[in-house]
Amino acid sequence: MNFGSLSLNMENQRELAGFFESGRLPHALLLEGASPELRVSLGMLLAQAALCDSFGKAGESLPCGTCGACRKVQAGGHPDLYVAGGEKGPALRVDEIRKIRGEAFIRPNEAQRKVYVLLEAQDMTAQAQNALLKILEEPPSGVFFLLTAPSGSQLLDTVCSRVQSIRLPQQAPSFTSFCEETARKMVEALCLPGEAELLYGAAPLIGNKEALEKVLELLGLLFRDACVLRGGGTVCLSGMEEPARQLSRQLTRAGLIRLEEAAEKAKRELEANANAGLLVTTLCARLRSAAGR
Ligand SMILES: [Zn+2]
Repeated sequence: MNFGSLSLNMENQRELAGFFESGRLPHALLLEGASPELRVSLGMLLAQAALCDSFGKAGESLPCGTCGACRKVQAGGHPDLYVAGGEKGPALRVDEIRKIRGEAFIRPNEAQRKVYVLLEAQDMTAQAQNALLKILEEPPSGVFFLLTAPSGSQLLDTVCSRVQSIRLPQQAPSFTSFCEETARKMVEALCLPGEAELLYGAAPLIGNKEALEKVLELLGLLFRDACVLRGGGTVCLSGMEEPARQLSRQLTRAGLIRLEEAAEKAKRELEANANAGLLVTTLCARLRSAAGR
């Protein structure tokens, strides 16, 4: 599958590729969770994949983006694609659903199937959902429904039980903000007396060498910033002034220098291929002792 610029986690990618690359689509798929933008963009991409000329061909990445069908979908003019709801088409009222029900049994115009994209399906009244349920209970062959909603719990249970649900996690934080957040938590924990908080804060780094490397770099900068602030300076290399200030208020200059050395040492060990899991635990112990805890 070719997800373009959409950021999906591996599990969702695998689930979706499983349906599309096997050539065996369920009758109805519900994309739930994440942001409205991601749900809608993914819904449109999957609609394109379901209509793409390469569908069902082994070894082809879907959607190909270049075939006639893909181009028609991108231009908003594929005769077998119907989009409603959200901000993209007519509202999902009961009469609209009844119209779909009438048309769904007519064979597709040119693609292998007809695709009905019902965006933000939670906007449907119970009456409209019940009308949809009648098609979902006995779906015509050659029809693929794609629904999006913040959560399946906003739809009738009967509708939910007839669709295959893909749960998209709430937007994953970017790598940088994840690392900054982890470094911040570790610094806050270093200012606390107990040891559990530090281990807890560092736990997401176990098994994530790339993030550990970045966090060690950030911690090194934070400890240096704290040193400078303590000496009356103002430079903030880490870009994270508040945690640096917190450290500078709580620790001695000697303690801060020891912390910087501990981060530097762990970085060298990581580069020398130390076990990243063990290193996190050792690092926590060393940081605490450097901070005089
Ligand atoms: Zn294509």
